[in-house]
Amino acid sequence: MSTTTPDCGSSKHVASLEALVERDKDHDCKGYGAHNVCVRIEAVAQLPTRFGSFKIVGFSNNRDGKDHLALVHGDIMGQIDVPTRLHSECLTGDVMGSLRCDCREQLESALEKLAAGERGLLLYMRQEGRGIGLMNKLRAYALQEQGLDTVDANIALGFRDDEREYSVAAHMLSSLNVQSIQLLTNNPNKIAQLQQLGVNVSGRIEHVMKPNEINRHYLETKAARSGHLMTFMKMSPEAEQNDSVVVRPGSGTRT
Ligand SMILES: [Zn+2]
Ligand SMILES: [Zn+2]
Repeated sequence: MSTTTPDCGSSKHVASLEALVERDKDHDCKGYGAHNVCVRIEAVAQLPTRFGSFKIVGFSNNRDGKDHLALVHGDIMGQIDVPTRLHSECLTGDVMGSLRCDCREQLESALEKLAAGERGLLLYMRQEGRGIGLMNKLRAYALQEQGLDTVDANIALGFRDDEREYSVAAHMLSSLNVQSIQLLTNNPNKIAQLQQLGVNVSGRIEHVMKPNEINRHYLETKAARSGHLMTFMKMSPEAEQNDSVVVRPGSGTRT
């Protein structure tokens, strides 16, 4: 299926997640994707959370100083159909509780869903602001205050709508010996990118959040212009919150 999966040696089976640190000690491969990204597991520890019990797996990479994380619930190594969420870092949303986006809700909902099942995996990717970085994301917010939508603001700063890239995630899944994943996503582009990188995506689990009054326009723009599949719950002060509003993806999609 893939033309890019390297013969990486990172899929060598070991008995436990903890043993991956020793296995990866000298790991180095020709890497994944256009930038030949190679990651190495550096540390594994227990991480009890308010959503349930996880183990946290720390990865370093050979391209930049960013440490990526995996949160693992249950036994995932060697498994098929592992419910998996890829979450891209959003400091303003994940940490500060910003209402400009729905990242924190997406993260918390994913961790709840994953912890409730037999097994699950969340990859926390350090690619802030859909890959454009924190400062540029803040600049884009400022442009949006002048009337541009989220897509046009990124384009005005010289970026594509979405600069995220999933080679790191593909390598992380291989490092964790995950055979196939059921992806929690509304974004078909994410599935296509992962498949191109050799990841076996065996299914999709819908992951739709209820918009708030501040991020509704942002979410509708993602659906209308970036191809996200969403059915919105109507937000209003009255008792109409269960009416669904469908926004058709695909019209005006840019890449
Ligand atoms: Zn590697
Ligand atoms: Zn966000």
